[in-house]
Amino acid sequence: MEYRIGQGYDVHQLREGLPMWLGGVQIPSTMGFVAHSDGDVAIHALCDALLGALAMGDIGHLFPDTSDEWKGVDSKVLLADVMGRVRSLGWQVGNVDITIALQAPKLAPHIDTMRSTLAGVMGIDVDRVSVKATTTEHLGFVGRGEGCEVWAVALLCRSL
Ligand code: MG
Repeated sequence: MEYRIGQGYDVHQLREGLPMWLGGVQIPSTMGFVAHSDGDVAIHALCDALLGALAMGDIGHLFPDTSDEWKGVDSKVLLADVMGRVRSLGWQVGNVDITIALQAPKLAPHIDTMRSTLAGVMGIDVDRVSVKATTTEHLGFVGRGEGCEVWAVALLCRSL
C-alpha cells in the first residue's frame, strides 16, 4: 500500500439569524455561519484535508466563492465531489479526524449524527470518521462567540 496524509483548516464568522450547519447536520442555534456556501466549516476543513493529501489544491480553488454556481450550496455536495476525485485516482480513505472549536452551543449531542452523516456522504464506515468538539474556555475569537475554527486530517491509502 501507499499512503498520503492531508490536513485542512477553516474558520467562519458567526452571525445572528443564520442557520448553523456543521458536519452535514443542522445544529439548533440562533446563530449560523457567514459564507458563500451553507457555511459548513467542518466539511470545508475536511475537504481541504482530503485535497491536501493528494496535493489537489483547496476548495476555494475548486469551488470559487465568486461563482454563482456554488452560492448557498449544501457543503455535502462539495464533499461528495471531492470524494469522487479521490476515488477516481484509486485512493480510499483510511480515516479522517475532525476537531471543531466552538464556544456555543455544545456539540456533544450532535457528534454521532455528524459522524454518520459524513460517513454516508463519503461512502465509508462510520468507524473511520472521528468528530471531536471543544470550547476555547472563552479565550480568543472562538471563546467570544465570534466564530468557529476547525482542523481536519485525512489518511488515504491505495494499493501499489
Ligand atoms: Mg469555508
